[in-house]
Amino acid sequence: MTDHRTQREEAEIIVIGAGPAGSAAAIALARAGRRVLLLDRAAFPRDKPCGDLIGARAMSWARKLGIAEDDLAPYGRLRGALVAADHGELDLSPRTGVGRAVLARSDARVIPRAVFDAAMVRAAERAGAELRRANVRRVSDWDGTGREVAVAAPGGDTTLHARAVVIAGGYGCRLASDAKDERHHGGPPRGIAMRGYFTGVDAPVDRIAFCLNAWVLPGYGWVFPLPDGGANVGVGTLTEGGADEHLRSLYERFVSDPASPAAAWLRNATPVGRPRSWPLDLGPRPRRLIADGLLVAGEAGSLVGPLTGAGIAFALESGARAGEVLANVLPSDDPVADRLTPYARFVSRRCLPWLRGEGVAQRWLGDPNHLQGLVRTVRPLPPTGVLGARLLLHLG
Ligand SMILES: Cc1cc2nc3c(=O)[nH]c(=O)nc-3n(C[C@H](O)[C@H](O)[C@H](O)COP(=O)(O)OP(=O)(O)OC[C@H]3O[C@@H](n4cnc5c(N)ncnc54)[C@H](O)[C@@H]3O)c2cc1C
Repeated sequence: MTDHRTQREEAEIIVIGAGPAGSAAAIALARAGRRVLLLDRAAFPRDKPCGDLIGARAMSWARKLGIAEDDLAPYGRLRGALVAADHGELDLSPRTGVGRAVLARSDARVIPRAVFDAAMVRAAERAGAELRRANVRRVSDWDGTGREVAVAAPGGDTTLHARAVVIAGGYGCRLASDAKDERHHGGPPRGIAMRGYFTGVDAPVDRIAFCLNAWVLPGYGWVFPLPDGGANVGVGTLTEGGADEHLRSLYERFVSDPASPAAAWLRNATPVGRPRSWPLDLGPRPRRLIADGLLVAGEAGSLVGPLTGAGIAFALESGARAGEVLANVLPSDDPVADRLTPYARFVSRRCLPWLRGEGVAQRWLGDPNHLQGLVRTVRPLPPTGVLGARLLLHLG
C-alpha cells in the first residue's frame, strides 16, 4: 500500500550518503557542535563493491576522524606490494634495512568495506550525528533560505528542510539541480570493476598484489589479502578504450586462467558469495562542488584516482573538509556559494593535482611497451622498490 502522507521536518544540516565521504562530513560537523542528520538508503553494515584497500592516507584520515582501534585490530598492516606483468614481476617489498624502516611506518590495510564503513558510521554517531535510513529522491532550493530534501523512508515520505546539505551519495549521485550531470563536459572514461571474496588463498599474507598483464590493460587485476587466508580478488577496466572482453569474462579469466598470475594463488581457494561489479566515477572531471547551501564530496564529485581506482582517501578528506568549511560558515553566515569557496579551493589544491598525476600515469602505463620497460628498469633497484611500494600503498 502506498502511504500518501508526506511529513515535514526541520533539520540543521543533512548529509546524504553514509559512506566514507558522508561519515567524514558528519563527524566534522558534529564535532563542531552542529546538528547533523546522516541519511543512507542502506542499513549498515552494508556491502560496497571495492578492493577494500584502505591506503595509508585513508587510514590517517580514518584515525583523525575517530575510527575505533577495536575495529582495526583484526586487519594487519601491509608490508609491501607485488606487481605481476607479462615480462616479470616487481617485488615492491623492503629489501634493505632502510626500506623496512620506511615501510614499517605505513598503516595501509585491507579491511572489508562492510566493516570499515560501519566503523566510520559508528564514529559519526559517537561524534553526535543522527543516522537515519532514508532514500533521498530530490534536493531542491527552499525559499532561498535553505534546502528541501524529499526522502522515502520506511514510515512514509518525508520532506526535510535544512540550512545546508552535503551530497555524498557516491557514484552517479546527481540529486541536486545545482549539481547537474556534466557527462558531456569531458573528463576521463568511467571505470567498471568486479570483485569477489575467497578463502583458502595461497597468496602473500602481508602484501597486495597487482596484475598488469597485457590482456587486462589499461585496467588491472588485484589480490588483496584478508585475515585467515582470505582475499579480495578483482579486476577493473575502463568503460571506453578498455579491455575488449566483457567484465565478467575478464574476471573469470583472471581468477582461473592458468596464464593469469592470480590463478596459481587461487588454485585451492573457495569463493565466498557471488562476485559483484560496480562502476567508478574516475576523476578529475569538471564538476561543480558547491552551490548555495550545497557541497558535493567523495565519489559524487568524481574524486577517484583514474590509475588505481582508489577513492576512499579522497572521500574521507573531501568529506571532512566539506564539513569543516560548512561548520565555520554556519554560526554567523548563510552558507551561500561564495562562503563555501574554501572547500572548492581545498579540492583543487589537494585532490585535483593527484588525480591529474594518476591520469598521466594511467595513460602511460596503459601501453604494454612502457610497462615492460618499467618492469625491466626498476626491478634491479631495491630502493626504487621501496619507493614504489610506498607510492602504491599511499595511492591506496
Ligand atoms: C570494484 C571497486 C573497487 C574499488 N577499490 C577501491 C580500493 O581498494 N580502495 C579505494 O580507496 N577505493 C576503491 N574503490 C573506490 C571506492 O569504493 C569509492 O571511491 C568510495 O566508496 C567513495 O566513497 P563515497 O563515500 O564517496 O561513496 P560510497 O562509498 O559509494 O557511499 C555512498 C553512500 O550513499 C548512499 N546513497 C547513495 N544514493 C543515496 C540516496 N539517494 N539516498 C540515500 N543514500 C544514498 C549509498 O547507499 C552509500 O552508502 C573501488 C571502487 C570499485 C567499484
